[in-house]
Amino acid sequence: MDMNPSTPLRTRPLLSPNTFARRVWLPINDFIAGSDISRQLTLLEQSQWWKTEDLQEYQNKRLRSLIHHAFTHVPYYHDLFRTLDLSPSDIKTKEDLVKLPILTKEDIRKSPQRFIAKNIPRTSLIHETTSGSSGKVFEYFVDKNVESISRAMGLRGWGFAGYRVGDNIVTLAGSSLLPKNVPLYTKIRFKFSQNLPLSSYNLNKERLDEYLQQIIKFNPRFIRGYPSSIAILARHALEHGIDEVNPKGVMTTAETLSKSQREIISSAFHCDVFDQFGCIDGGENASECDQHRGYHISVERSVHEFLDDNGCPVASGENGHIILTDLWNYAMPFIRYNAGDMGVPTDRTCPCGRGLPLLERITGRTVEQIVLPDGQRLPGLPLTDVFEHGNIVTAVLDYQIIQENVDEFVVNIVKSDSYSPAISKEIQEFMWGHLGRHAEIRFNILDEIPRTDANKRRILICKVNNVKNQKGN
Ligand SMILES: [Zn+2]
Repeated sequence: MDMNPSTPLRTRPLLSPNTFARRVWLPINDFIAGSDISRQLTLLEQSQWWKTEDLQEYQNKRLRSLIHHAFTHVPYYHDLFRTLDLSPSDIKTKEDLVKLPILTKEDIRKSPQRFIAKNIPRTSLIHETTSGSSGKVFEYFVDKNVESISRAMGLRGWGFAGYRVGDNIVTLAGSSLLPKNVPLYTKIRFKFSQNLPLSSYNLNKERLDEYLQQIIKFNPRFIRGYPSSIAILARHALEHGIDEVNPKGVMTTAETLSKSQREIISSAFHCDVFDQFGCIDGGENASECDQHRGYHISVERSVHEFLDDNGCPVASGENGHIILTDLWNYAMPFIRYNAGDMGVPTDRTCPCGRGLPLLERITGRTVEQIVLPDGQRLPGLPLTDVFEHGNIVTAVLDYQIIQENVDEFVVNIVKSDSYSPAISKEIQEFMWGHLGRHAEIRFNILDEIPRTDANKRRILICKVNNVKNQKGN
């Protein structure tokens, strides 16, 4: 200690900003919002280091509880168990789940009310929609516990990249990460949680310059968002010699991260890229740690099965359908839910020491890039956000955007009874907002969206300049 009396005393805060944010701000946030994020995060920060068998035991315990709840309170499952002559005691572990059929979005769409638990007050149901990787809008309900565990899981996943609550962060994304119609409280939370939201729409040269200046001024510890958008920003920074963006890490999600995107982001911003994978309707959350050996699966949140086309488990290193059982959504339980994603599990363990198993890679998600007349590439995902807007959600049952030529787009639509020409006009205006009015946009009303040879459905197909597209991304 400096004892020189002439040296002015410097007062140091009792708590560091991160400790304050974690120990004071987050619990206050919970108290105001009636959430439980802080406590759940504390538990998750401990459980990530548990031994694999302890995590399995925890998972099976939650599974038994969910199964009992579903049989007792959820009409669909009550009837299903009766039909199959099963009782809740027949499903004790993950391995027993094979006794139940795979659940698809179509199954749920047929009678969504039958999946809602009867003992959950209707007023506490929280409405969610997702277009997910399949692109088709899907509506479901969760309760407040799901919101808390999802947020806590997200914060833990960011923690794998070194993030601490209170760190400032830039989010560059579309509506799946930056919803427009959020309550005032969420906007305030964004403000206080040191989050600078930047829309990934219309990333032209002027906007990229403006964003880079904003980011330099904000000096974030982390940047997160759609990999295609961050890669465009990174390329722009490299091309213009802008070298002052130096976050501790970049976290990517919502689209498949390509190797070249990872390289360009890492090179422009001088940091590691941490990819994350989520499927919110399935309760999926998987994130890379600093070892980059795959994605740590959050087994406390959901049961993962990786199955071949015949429903048999695939071996370590083989590609399989990701089947999820969310262990937290008691409002509308989905057991053995196929959200349409595929991935490769692995038996390898991670040198970081976490007991959470690894998902080697995601194989079933691709979001195409749109090519503009000047050669600029735009991420496709934001363009499909229009299908989550207002009346369009119910008027359009299914959709697909095809870029035939630089200035020519075809929108395939499967309509519901509430569809009208005004809906097409609204979609057209939205697309023109991003593409410019020179773009010709045609609509095709179809009975069904065609699938690829591999029977996969693609929400966006770009037929233009694919070679350059791949090279650039
Ligand atoms: Zn690890």
